[in-house]
Amino acid sequence: MEGLQVKVNKAVIYSKPGTMETEVVELPIEAPGPGQVLVRVLYSGVCHTDYSLCTNSWKAPVTVPKGQIGGHEGVGQVISQGPGVVNPKVGAKVGIKYVASACLSCRYCLLGKEVNCIAAKLSGAFHPGTFQQFLVAASNYVTLIPDNVADDALPGLAPIMCAGITVYTALKNTDLRPGDWVAISGGGGGLGHLAIQYAKAMGYLVVALDVGGKESMCIEAGADHFVDVLGFTKSEELCQQVVKLTGGGARVALVCTSSNAAYAQAIYCLDQAGTLVCLGVPEGEPRPIETASVPLLVSRQIRIIGSKVGDRADAHECVRMAVNGAVQAHYQLRKMEELSDVFAEMEEGNISGRVVLDLR
Ligand SMILES: [Zn+2]
Ligand SMILES: [Zn+2]
Repeated sequence: MEGLQVKVNKAVIYSKPGTMETEVVELPIEAPGPGQVLVRVLYSGVCHTDYSLCTNSWKAPVTVPKGQIGGHEGVGQVISQGPGVVNPKVGAKVGIKYVASACLSCRYCLLGKEVNCIAAKLSGAFHPGTFQQFLVAASNYVTLIPDNVADDALPGLAPIMCAGITVYTALKNTDLRPGDWVAISGGGGGLGHLAIQYAKAMGYLVVALDVGGKESMCIEAGADHFVDVLGFTKSEELCQQVVKLTGGGARVALVCTSSNAAYAQAIYCLDQAGTLVCLGVPEGEPRPIETASVPLLVSRQIRIIGSKVGDRADAHECVRMAVNGAVQAHYQLRKMEELSDVFAEMEEGNISGRVVLDLR
């Protein structure tokens, strides 16, 4: 571990927001202010949200600024404390989340909805993210990683900091009971393969949906059944297959892909009184869920909920599960210089599991 004798902070910036262009640059290392710590970021996962922010694939009216440092799944080590900071200590291993800081006193924070905080800062979105070697972080908002975690286990914890927290919190926010069926769309993806593992660790049964090439990934993650989404001529047949495999429909459908079709199908994969959880955000102009007709929702008492990342407690719980071996991220290590290539591979849907940038 290098210390402060290093004077330069290597970072990947979005050099032309709206496109996939990125550039590795050298920046000064910032000093942590009151309530902050300086973190040597060692690894950062690359999330589909990073791709969307860089390319503006969600067609947001305002793009992130040129020079934005993306990334929101960081793992590293505290190397110095700002004035007044007691914890975390120098040397502590920490994770950086999508929510970089929250005020902890607004009404959302008081309700435990820190991710909705009116003053939240978001890593990699109008606030510096984790695609850099040195990052100033809010000391009360980093996630502590137990000291005994081996260095070679750290890259695998990076995807937990967004993908893991997102799926774990989504599962936690449903009324699932042990032995219930969960349908996970996009089961072989970055979110999906972790969702399968968290669901199994929490005592649920899983039917994973994805393209045929991702079947082994889903089964290895622990799925009880796999359904090839391209293996049917009609959407209804796919849904009927899920209903058959689950003995009447899934209690919860977790849509981890950014596909409008997956959302339309998911409602028909549910049992009565089931819950559709929206996670993956489709690209392009926002569209309603086509099949969510009011008569259907009323007669079958279907709930539709949105979920994004989680709060500090969710983060600690899901890091603990990963450290204890219940969940393992499937990842490939890539260099900072390759971020644009990674985005291109994401666009083509060519990545299984997660890409983690090696920032050492
Ligand atoms: Zn993310
Ligand atoms: Zn707040």
